[in-house]
Amino acid sequence: MTRLLIIGPPGSGKGTQAEHIARHFGIPVVSTGEIFRTNVSEETELGIQAAAYLDGGTFVPDHLTNALVRDRLLKKDLQAGFLLDGYPRTAPQVMELDDMLATQGLALDAVIELHAPDDELEQRMRRRAADQGRTDDTVDVFRHRLDLYHRETHEVVSVYAGRGLLVSVNGSGDPGDITGQAIAAVEKFLATPRSGA
Ligand code: ADP
Repeated sequence: MTRLLIIGPPGSGKGTQAEHIARHFGIPVVSTGEIFRTNVSEETELGIQAAAYLDGGTFVPDHLTNALVRDRLLKKDLQAGFLLDGYPRTAPQVMELDDMLATQGLALDAVIELHAPDDELEQRMRRRAADQGRTDDTVDVFRHRLDLYHRETHEVVSVYAGRGLLVSVNGSGDPGDITGQAIAAVEKFLATPRSGA
């Protein structure tokens, strides 16, 4: 049973890496960004409430996001583990997740941080904008998402580093190589005995 979290700035390829890493470990991905995008395109109540935040590259309010994740984590398909992508993104969300997991007697096993330089992230976003047509992949919205990442989500990385759970992976280079490096780094981490574990 493996419970993982992947954190990375916009354009770092974290969604793609999440799919490959999760397949390797035989666990489902829970991507809050994907869940929101699906709800927006299906025009559900949640999607209608979340759309403007996604388009503006700002965080969806915590009461919506936390409730969504809390429900999702109770589903049976996650009993064998999961890879969270995009949540938690702020220090208060870390505490929410701690609580959700603790009520089930669970905790994360490892946190993967994908990192890459800002200028490379923006170049990748420009390429992806042409392929995928995400409404938040415009230069201004992207810079706002990146700024939020540095201001808010970086703190999440520090919290997990402090707990000794962080596995940092260089997100620059060939996507297949990065997947291989990420899987190897996580496996090594999980195989290493830790104090308190
Ligand atoms: P990226 O990390 O590339 O910006 P995501 O697909 O992870 O893309 O997220 C897209 C959008 O979904 C975010 O800009 C935000 O509006 C919303 N979102 C996703 N996860 C969260 C979260 N944990 N808290 C608040 N909003 C979120």
